[in-house]
Amino acid sequence: MSVSESLSQITDRIASVAKSADREPSSVELVAVSKVQPSERIEAALAAGHRLFGENRVQEAETRWKSLRPRFADLRLHLIGPLQTNKVRPAVALFDCIESVDRPKLARALAREFEAANKRLPCLIQVNTGEEPQKAGVLVQDLDDLVGLCKDELGLPLDGLMCIPPIEEAPAPHFALLADLAHRHGLPTLSMGMSGDFETAIRHGATRVRVGSAVFGPRPNGEKPSSAA
Ligand SMILES: *Cc1c(COP(=O)(O)O)cnc(C)c1O
Repeated sequence: MSVSESLSQITDRIASVAKSADREPSSVELVAVSKVQPSERIEAALAAGHRLFGENRVQEAETRWKSLRPRFADLRLHLIGPLQTNKVRPAVALFDCIESVDRPKLARALAREFEAANKRLPCLIQVNTGEEPQKAGVLVQDLDDLVGLCKDELGLPLDGLMCIPPIEEAPAPHFALLADLAHRHGLPTLSMGMSGDFETAIRHGATRVRVGSAVFGPRPNGEKPSSAA
């Protein structure tokens, strides 16, 4: 299947599960995760009119999007992978949303860079719902403090929460947990659901799904979503 066919198929699936959950199809955004994908597949998605993409590494994203970005004024790029504080400057320069805020040090560095660059990007906090030691994300028990720091002390434009459930577990309880946490904090955006489970995520309230291989085909290096660190 071509990238443009996959895109329209995924869009249809999103619309139909949204409707069955009594939601507007437009209430779910599709982030096409382009990490590691060959450029002709990305060009194909752009040619099909898709404009919202996710990348998990700053440097790779810079290389890939530097030449493409000026050609598409309405392009939006989301950082969905772990961010080191020494990469905050280029990340803020390149991306339109940071979905992976997961610790106080990073939140402070982002606040400083927003000030310096006079730019305020919407941020999501990544929650490590499965408490996996190798995975990025704040632990549920530390979320209240991090939300408080971001919103009250630093004034970050905090929009919502993001999670990547453990590969070997059923994702639904993780999505339900994330939805509950976002609701409790009054955060509207829920970024959850990938190629294998985005329909389940939408049933649990996802407002944004991050879909890579189901849009573009398998990643050439076989990289898994959790191996982004
Ligand atoms: C790679 C990745 C995805 C997409 O994974 P697929 O299974 O290819 O859809 C989604 N979110 C994050 C954070 C990722 O790193």
